[in-house]
Amino acid sequence: MTTELFLEEINKRRTFAIISHPDAGKTTITEKVLLFGQLIQKAGTVKGKKSGQYATSDWMEMEKERGISVTTSVMQFPYADCLVNLLDTPGHEDFSEDTYRTLTAVDSCLMVIDGAKGVEDRTIKLMEVTRLRDTPIITFMNKMDRDIRDPVDLLDEVESVLKIACAPITWPIASGKEFKGVYHIYRDEIILYKSGMGHTIQELDVIKGINNPELDKRVGYYADQLREEMELVKGASHEFDLELFRKGELTPVFFGTALGNFGVDHMLDGLTEWAPAPQHRATTTRVIEPSEPAFTGFVFKIQANMDPKHRDRVAFLRICSGKYEKGMKMHHVRIGKDMLVPQALTFLAGDREHVEQAFPGDIIGLHNHGTIQIGDTFTSGEKFNFTGIPNFAPELFRRIRLRDPLKQKQLLKGLVQLSEEGAVQVFRPLDNNDLIVGAVGVLQFDVVVHRLRSEYSVDAIYESVNVTTARWVYSDDHKAMTELKSKASMNLALDGGDNLTYLAPTMVNLNLSIERYPKIKFHKTREH
Ligand code: GDP
Repeated sequence: MTTELFLEEINKRRTFAIISHPDAGKTTITEKVLLFGQLIQKAGTVKGKKSGQYATSDWMEMEKERGISVTTSVMQFPYADCLVNLLDTPGHEDFSEDTYRTLTAVDSCLMVIDGAKGVEDRTIKLMEVTRLRDTPIITFMNKMDRDIRDPVDLLDEVESVLKIACAPITWPIASGKEFKGVYHIYRDEIILYKSGMGHTIQELDVIKGINNPELDKRVGYYADQLREEMELVKGASHEFDLELFRKGELTPVFFGTALGNFGVDHMLDGLTEWAPAPQHRATTTRVIEPSEPAFTGFVFKIQANMDPKHRDRVAFLRICSGKYEKGMKMHHVRIGKDMLVPQALTFLAGDREHVEQAFPGDIIGLHNHGTIQIGDTFTSGEKFNFTGIPNFAPELFRRIRLRDPLKQKQLLKGLVQLSEEGAVQVFRPLDNNDLIVGAVGVLQFDVVVHRLRSEYSVDAIYESVNVTTARWVYSDDHKAMTELKSKASMNLALDGGDNLTYLAPTMVNLNLSIERYPKIKFHKTREH
C-alpha cells in the first residue's frame, strides 16, 4: 500500500462515542445512525425495551432483564466519504468506568440532550471526562416532536453549565405536535418534518431559502416567526468555527427527533465533515502520530462471552498508528513478548467478522486467553505505554465468600479475570485470606455474582466489610514503603494486578495515614 493510500484510509475515519443522560435517546439515535450506515435494514431492531426485541450488542441475560446496556460494543459503517466507528457505551452510571475508558479511544463525541429536560447530571459528568482530552463535541437536541424548552434557553444552559460555546447549525421550527422541521442555517434551507416515518430514511422535503414564499405556504404563521427568531439567534449565538470545535471549545448544535429519524442525517453530515480524523496519542516516551507506519494500539476494554456461541473473551484495541494485517505479529509491551495475531474481529452491529486489515481509528477485537489486560499497549517492537487509561478507586466494598469452600481457586481465578476486564476490582488483604470486591456502582456487584455463577460455576455471596475507600500507594522511598508495610499491614491489600492498595475503614483513618506517611503517595486513580 502506498503512503498516499494509507493516509487516505486514515483521513476518512471518524471514531466517536455518544454521551448522554439515560433516556435522552442514545439507543434510538444509534439505531437511526445504523440505518443511515446501512447496517440495519429497518430501524426498531437494535433494542426494544418495550417490544421484547434486543440489540445484537446485548449479550448478558441480566442486561436483558434490566434493559440496560452493560457492555461496550463497536459498530463500523460507511457514511458519505467516511468510514465511521461508533463506540457504544453503557447507559447505566454504575458502569461509568467502562464509559470513561471508552472515551479515551475516540476522537470526538456526540452529546445527545433531551430537549424537554436540558442538561442533566450524567451529561455533566461525562463532559468532564471528555475535557481531559479536549475531545471535540457535537450536540444533538433531541425530542423536538415533544414540547421542548425554548431552544435559546437550551443553548444558554449548555454554555453556562457545560462551559462550551454553542454554534447552532440547524434551528427548530416549533416543537411538539406543531413541529414543522428545521432551518439549516449554513445551507439556507428548510427541511420539513413528516411524522410517523422514523423507521425509514425519508425523502427530503426541502425549501430553498428562508425568504422563499413557499415557506409561508407550507408552515404558515411559523415562517415569519422563524425569520424573526433567526435575527435574534444570529446576534446571540456563536458562529461555527472549525478550529474552536477541534479544540473542544465550541460545539455545533443540531435539532431533531431521533424517534422520528429527523435531523440525524444533518448531524452525521456535520460529524463526517468536521470531526477530526484519528488523532495523535500520548505515550510514556513520545507522541504517536497515526501516519507512522509502525503498528501501535492500546486496549481500552475487555469483554467476556459477547456471544453465547463463542465463550471467549475479547480485548478491544484502538489502533493508533500503522496498519493491522491478518496474521501479523504484535509486541505486547507489558509482558515483553511478541504475539501472533491470526485473526482479529470487527463488530458490524454485533455481527462478528474477521478483518483482513484495519487502520488507525479502527477498533479490532483480539481473542484473549488471559494475557491481555485493560491498558495494555501493543507495538511493532518499540517499548512504551499509551497513557491516560484510568482505573478509579472504588467507592463500594464487600467481602465475597463462597457457599462451597472447595471452590476457592475458581473464585480467585474468576475474580482476577473479571478485574482484568474492569468489571470489578478485587483486593486481597496482606494479613488474611479474605477477598474484597470493590465497585464504583452497586450493580457491578450483582453482575459479578451472576457471572461467577454462569461462567466459573461458583456460587458466591457478599458480606459487609469495614472499608470506606481505597488508595493505590506508591513511593520511591524504599524505607518509607517498608515502614508502611510493617506498621499498616492490616490496611494493605493487593489488587487484581498485584498493586499495593490502602483500604481505609474511614476517611479519618485515611487522612491520618496520609499525614503519618508523608513520603507515600496515596492515589485515587491508577493508570494502567
Ligand atoms: P437512552 O436511555 O438514552 O438509550 O434512550 P432511548 O433511546 O432508549 O430513549 C428513551 C425513550 O425516549 C424511549 O422511550 C424512546 O422511544 C424515547 N425517544 C427517543 N428519542 C425520541 C424522540 O425524538 N422523540 C420522542 N417523543 N421520544 C423519543
